[in-house]
Amino acid sequence: MASVTLRRGREARLRGGHPWIFAGDLAALPPSENAGEAVEVLDHRGRFLAMALCNPRSNLTLRVVSRQREEIGRLFVQQRLAAALQLRRHLLGDAGAARLVNAESDGLPAFVVDRYGDFLVVQSLALAADRLLPHLVEELVAQTGPQGVYERSDAPVRALEGLPERTGVLWGAEPPPLVEIREGEARFLVDVREGQKTGFFLDQRPNRLKLGALCKGKRVLNTFCYSGGFSIPAALGGAAEVIGVDTSGAALELAEKNAEANEVGDRCSWVEANAFDHLRDLDRLKERFDVVVLDPPAFTKTKDSIPGAVRGYKEINLRALKILAPGGLLVSASCSHHIDPQLFLDIVADAAADAGRTVRMIDYAGPGPDHPSLPAAPETRYLKCFWGVVT
Ligand code: SAH
Repeated sequence: MASVTLRRGREARLRGGHPWIFAGDLAALPPSENAGEAVEVLDHRGRFLAMALCNPRSNLTLRVVSRQREEIGRLFVQQRLAAALQLRRHLLGDAGAARLVNAESDGLPAFVVDRYGDFLVVQSLALAADRLLPHLVEELVAQTGPQGVYERSDAPVRALEGLPERTGVLWGAEPPPLVEIREGEARFLVDVREGQKTGFFLDQRPNRLKLGALCKGKRVLNTFCYSGGFSIPAALGGAAEVIGVDTSGAALELAEKNAEANEVGDRCSWVEANAFDHLRDLDRLKERFDVVVLDPPAFTKTKDSIPGAVRGYKEINLRALKILAPGGLLVSASCSHHIDPQLFLDIVADAAADAGRTVRMIDYAGPGPDHPSLPAAPETRYLKCFWGVVT
């Protein structure tokens, strides 16, 4: 078994529970023949620290996969998957749609598996994950009995590993153009082959489930609405009117189908527009709302672009606060891990001050329990969802 030695003083983060080791932490890069394999990680005195998956081409050179010496093969994947599935059964019961594997946080680095009814969607985001993928697929089939397993490794992060993007059937049947799932009372049609990410944003499940009860008789604006994730529960909860805004025409077509499937098409409308511009226009027209949802894509993927992202989040929160009626509800999310929870609160507070409004926070939520994170690794925790009442 090949081994990699850390530079002196670089073991603290690993010992503290963080799973990532960067090229700069290493005494020497692992040889290229070990690319994609498991190696032993040693401290500068040669003591064993962990097993890690390695890619010398990536600045994120090692991903810790086990804290004990063990073979990283089929049996390992079998056990980790069983533990991940057990956790979901325990916490979510028999949810027809859930994230079954959440990468490092489930001890299966760089793997994401989402379940949509009888179909599984897999993302493999690192070289070593590609090597373990056949084991994962076999185990998914054995342990969950799906109709089909589909790959959506069309994520730009693969380029950092020197890998091309890839999609297609990995096992069994090709998913139909739309797969139907349930989330509480809501039905959603999911386009697992062409939709954004793996087809649906499962991380927002608890927040979508919570919204419906707060919308009876309300006028709701759902910005960055994608396929209507927040619009449908709002309408099912008795909202008088729900307007969804998104730049993606394909997303809005699906949103309309979702509204019809839930028989709320008469109270849902969809606007293809840039949410920044549309929020400004609504304010200019003196339109007012009882509930505004902001659920934008990550505005920053790197540390360098944090200031621009802060300005973006502040702008949409400011605009949302301006068009909220007194007593209105702001549901404001951020999924950039570079915007930490306190910074996001500061942004909302800043926006409220500029808008001349007072906001009382009633909840500050994250994703559901099928998206576990590691306390030692802030990178595994990205979604924040602020709930505030505005006066
Ligand atoms: N709330 C959704 C998920 C939103 S994902 C749900 O619960 O399912 C973010 C969405 O923002 C995507 O659909 C994307 O098309 C859209 N988007 C990105 N930039 C945008 C912009 N400037 N204005 C409006 N929508 C935008």
